[in-house]
Amino acid sequence: MKPVITLVGRPNVGKSTLFNRLTRSRDALVADLPGLTRDRHYGEGRAGSRPYLVVDTGGFEPVAKEGILYEMARQTRQAVEESDVIIFLVDGRLGLAPQDAAIASYLRKTGRPVFLVVNKAEGMRYGAVAAEFYELGLGDPRAISSAHGDGVTELIEEALEKA
Ligand code: GDP
Ligand code: MG
Repeated sequence: MKPVITLVGRPNVGKSTLFNRLTRSRDALVADLPGLTRDRHYGEGRAGSRPYLVVDTGGFEPVAKEGILYEMARQTRQAVEESDVIIFLVDGRLGLAPQDAAIASYLRKTGRPVFLVVNKAEGMRYGAVAAEFYELGLGDPRAISSAHGDGVTELIEEALEKA
């Protein structure tokens, strides 16, 4: 089965922008997804010759005010539980948000490989963009630009090694 990479993060961090960059066919065939819940936004990507599935959890963003069960809608948590590797996007322009800490705390508990990724980092110095995100406790942040493509190929190759 193809490895499943799930994109997680609060609204507006760039999940759908990254999803669109990664996927050639916008929606993978349901037949390609044995064992996976069918009602999510799946696409198929390829790193060199290696295919993978990518899940955009953007349709399942939280509606309520606080608490992890609200921050992470149930659908997003199910997607996380079905994934081989998680890409957790944060916003390098807006900086660390309280929701980021709640999501990080949840993701750490899943025990799955998580890549902390600072998006919108085009034109920014790595040290400046990454520093505040260390406190999320998910290791070295990677910096990318989903919009421009900077760092995206390297990120996916690394993610697939952990999948
Ligand atoms: P989502 O809610 O997490 O799916 O976020 P979207 O993909 O819809 O993006 C939210 C906004 O951020 C849009 O206006 C995007 O154009 C913008 N955006 C996404 N990626 C980047 C990036 O790498 N750099 C910049 N500057 N803006 C970005
Ligand atoms: Mg979206």
